[in-house]
Amino acid sequence: MKSLTIRDVIINKAASEKVARFFPWVYDNEILRYPQDAGRGELVRVCSPSGSFLGLGYINLKSTIAVRILSFVERPIDGEFLREKISKAWERRQSLMRHTNACRVVHYEADDLSGLIADYYNGYLSIQINTAGMENLRSGLLSALAQVINPRGVYERSDARSRAKEGLDAAEGVLFGEIPDEIVVEEKGVRFCIRMRESQKTGFYLDQRRNREIVASCVGEGFHVLDVFSNTGGFGIHAALQGAAAVTLVDVSLPALDLAAVNVRLNGLKNVVTAKADAFDYLDEAFKKGRRYDLIVLDPPSFTKTKSSRGGALKGYRRLMLAGLRLLRPEGYLALFSCSHHVSLEDLKRVSLEAAAETDSRLEVVEHLFQDRDHPYVINIPQSLYLKGVLFRKSLP
Ligand code: SAH
Repeated sequence: MKSLTIRDVIINKAASEKVARFFPWVYDNEILRYPQDAGRGELVRVCSPSGSFLGLGYINLKSTIAVRILSFVERPIDGEFLREKISKAWERRQSLMRHTNACRVVHYEADDLSGLIADYYNGYLSIQINTAGMENLRSGLLSALAQVINPRGVYERSDARSRAKEGLDAAEGVLFGEIPDEIVVEEKGVRFCIRMRESQKTGFYLDQRRNREIVASCVGEGFHVLDVFSNTGGFGIHAALQGAAAVTLVDVSLPALDLAAVNVRLNGLKNVVTAKADAFDYLDEAFKKGRRYDLIVLDPPSFTKTKSSRGGALKGYRRLMLAGLRLLRPEGYLALFSCSHHVSLEDLKRVSLEAAAETDSRLEVVEHLFQDRDHPYVINIPQSLYLKGVLFRKSLP
């Protein structure tokens, strides 16, 4: 890796205080002075107005998050740095790997590597390089991943939208080794097939691992389960293996449901069916047809990516919850999730209470649910908490 003379970026006092408390982002309007000819993704030293060192990061003036910090101590950002960060991340995932062979190895700044995601699937890696700063470190990152994890293949599935915001072209394809069309992973004895080339995100919703187990543990005898926004069947298949009588998976994506059908067979199940439909339409139709369920999972995609559209998103969750509650048998369980940072656990409970009032339901909170621990939530970085959910039981008054 070439060594650069690292230039200074001076940030304002308020931003300096945040960075001093390990918040890794500096917004464009917080910068006081910067090298005018700074390259996209160039490494910079971030300093306070009085000139004291705060961190090393990379700058991109095309992005609202103008600087992302990689290190809060002054040290070379080189191959050694990347190997150390990736080793640390890999090591801390090993306790999880006792029960699975798939996990997120690197989760952005929560692992000190802002702009990078790396997911491990039974010997293979699927990665995203989403910023210009990470793009500049590409070759060092690949050799560090290869050295630490020794994967049989690495596939890149970078997020085209994030890259466009950074002024980068889309990037996808095999970077190293071989990537089979299908990879089978195991999660607490449940098998899932991953198709890296076709899947949404990097392959599989690993962040819901723990929640799938918790929700499935509520299954009782004869349970009818409805898994809405099922993707490849994560929740429903776990529930079926816990003894549910019948499971329906609903998703709007045909490739996701095709793979769900493969997963149903992989686990030797006969009582799981799939339905390709818009979730809201499906829930309304099912109500009209008089169908009722003992366990319902509502795990929609993010309804909002920005603070300003939060109001609309809350209406969406409320509508979803209302539709779900109408289908839920008394004493049944319902899990509602949000994967948007801008919607809080309290927001989810508030809209649920409104929906409960409309359906004359009494709701008990069985569990508060969060992203699994291979997607770390660092409290110095509020944005790192994004997935939350509530598992309710409709109890009789
Ligand atoms: N519960 C899944 C992850 C869900 S991700 C798991 O554990 O793996 C959200 C899913 O919602 C995606 O699969 C997406 O295809 C689906 N989706 C998005 N909009 C939808 C809609 N209007 N109706 C039904 N499904 C939708």
